[in-house]
Amino acid sequence: MTLTVPLDTPGKHYGHIRLPHSADDSAWGHVMVPVCVVNGGNGPTALVTGANHGDEYEGPIAIRQLINTATPETTTGRLILIPQLNMPAFEAATRTSPIDGVNLNRAFPGNPTGTLTQRLAAFVNDHLIPPADLVIDFHSGGKTLDFLPMAISHILDDADQDARCAAAARAFGAPYTARLREIDDAGMFDGAAERAGKTFVTTEIGGAGTSTPASAAVALDGLLRTLAHHGILSAAPAPAPTRGLDLSDPLGFHFSTRGGLFHPLATLGDRVARDQALAHIYATQDLQSPPHTLYAQRSGLVSARHVPGLIKPGDCAFVLGTDDGPMGR
Ligand code: ZN
Repeated sequence: MTLTVPLDTPGKHYGHIRLPHSADDSAWGHVMVPVCVVNGGNGPTALVTGANHGDEYEGPIAIRQLINTATPETTTGRLILIPQLNMPAFEAATRTSPIDGVNLNRAFPGNPTGTLTQRLAAFVNDHLIPPADLVIDFHSGGKTLDFLPMAISHILDDADQDARCAAAARAFGAPYTARLREIDDAGMFDGAAERAGKTFVTTEIGGAGTSTPASAAVALDGLLRTLAHHGILSAAPAPAPTRGLDLSDPLGFHFSTRGGLFHPLATLGDRVARDQALAHIYATQDLQSPPHTLYAQRSGLVSARHVPGLIKPGDCAFVLGTDDGPMGR
């Protein structure tokens, strides 16, 4: 695995992470992940990644916009910008890699002798996380979920790091700022960066396998604000109001027990009561029986919802959070 772009040379450089991939259609072939490094000299380093999951688009759009405008003269420190981290998945518009079926965000810290995705994770873990002070890994809902726009920091045991990450997520200025503790962070980029002591911010911004003018703007503005918060950029949109969102209650996660035609009765941003009907699910072959009703397990704000018109048992149908109200600066 090779990085064909210098990290330590001042200037703006374009290159690739080059991963050997010997395949039927390319004997000595490689997978090429495009990278832009903007090195403005002394200062902090930000590693910014999009399309960790290949069907999530707000991050790639925001990072490509930043690549088009960032210069060494306007950068204090260094930007390592990788808009399409899981390149095979991005080009296939899939969540996981079509090459090995591996979910990059479950492959950390990676394996330098493993499958392609495991090797990519190892390269990021061993070579790109260590020089970074700040890591921003963009996510959206992908093809199957749609989210309220939010920046997220994790609840961490180290108080100083916890405060740094929460302040960075707050600075992002998305309409919502969430804090959560992953139920199981095994294999996640998030945990790998956090265990390395980095300030780490992730997002869930929109989804549904596309982007909107509003969701793309949230991603770009937030990226610029968070980089300005760390002194890497001097110009950024004005600080934006944000509302605290608590997604820590496992009861907020609603998984379907049935498969069929999905009729949502609530949508993003709705405030629902406990036992309120969230969706009807119609068995596709049975026209006689009434639909199965999915009820809210608790009250809350609809923070994410299932997108496709069909649903399967086990699919995440809704996530309900607690709106904690406006956050102070
Ligand atoms: Zn994702």
